[in-house]
Amino acid sequence: MTQKFTLHTHTWGFDGQNTPAEMIARARQLGFDCIGISNHFIVHPKICHSKMYKYASASGYASIYSASFSDALQKFEPHYRELTRLQSENPDIRLLRGLEVDFFDTPQWHDGFARTYELLRPDYIIGAAHFVEHNGNVCNVHDMASADSKTRDKMLMQYWENIRRLAASNIFNWIAHLDLPRKCNLGIEPKWHNIHAQTLQTIASCGTPIEINTSGYRTIIPQPYPCDSILKLAAQYNVPVLLSDDAHSTQQIGANFTVAKQFARDCGIQRFATLNQLLNLHQRGK
Ligand SMILES: [Zn+2]
Ligand SMILES: [Zn+2]
Repeated sequence: MTQKFTLHTHTWGFDGQNTPAEMIARARQLGFDCIGISNHFIVHPKICHSKMYKYASASGYASIYSASFSDALQKFEPHYRELTRLQSENPDIRLLRGLEVDFFDTPQWHDGFARTYELLRPDYIIGAAHFVEHNGNVCNVHDMASADSKTRDKMLMQYWENIRRLAASNIFNWIAHLDLPRKCNLGIEPKWHNIHAQTLQTIASCGTPIEINTSGYRTIIPQPYPCDSILKLAAQYNVPVLLSDDAHSTQQIGANFTVAKQFARDCGIQRFATLNQLLNLHQRGK
């Protein structure tokens, strides 16, 4: 059976195209018993000086970036109130309040995140690494793609280091779109294999699940994140997985779940995490 829940989705007001109510209606139509809304929680003091911030401003989704935890809290408090109201209006489907959190491993970030977490009390948190820091700047995969090869390799090393730290922090329910730089065809050479193996070993030893993110099917790749070679490592180390659509609109909900599940099976994956298993992993580090 294909997974009947989706926990990685984005909505209007952040960088999604539809309202939470529209997303719920679509999940119901698909026969899902649960939908989680997990908008971006990206807090970094320098985020508004990054290249992608200018791009995001021009494209109308700069609200996903916050320079401080209080900024982020101001966006999420009314959003979470709306989700709570929608749950009471839609008792036939389980609605969860999630966050897709960018992990920045500094004492300031950990302090700020712990405080914000206590105020928001999300149902689950997805750990993500969309950025690396280079020369004091926050850079994304497109910045990696436009860097010279030496810098790019440094950034990629840092990406995998961030993922290992994220797993080791034990604060996330699972890890989002491992292998994201592949969006720009980066990090696919055989020389990265050892880094991938080390990272998957770390993830396995922390017991953190990974998602198979079907948004990769919407790109030029077209394969989910992570790719087959990384999924084979996940199978080898018995890392639990779930399917995520990373839906930014109603039509993307549950998209390619059947193909992705078969793809995972073909890579040797047998351990698909249940909804309860995923939610019970919450804040294991505490
Ligand atoms: Zn993401
Ligand atoms: Zn996402």
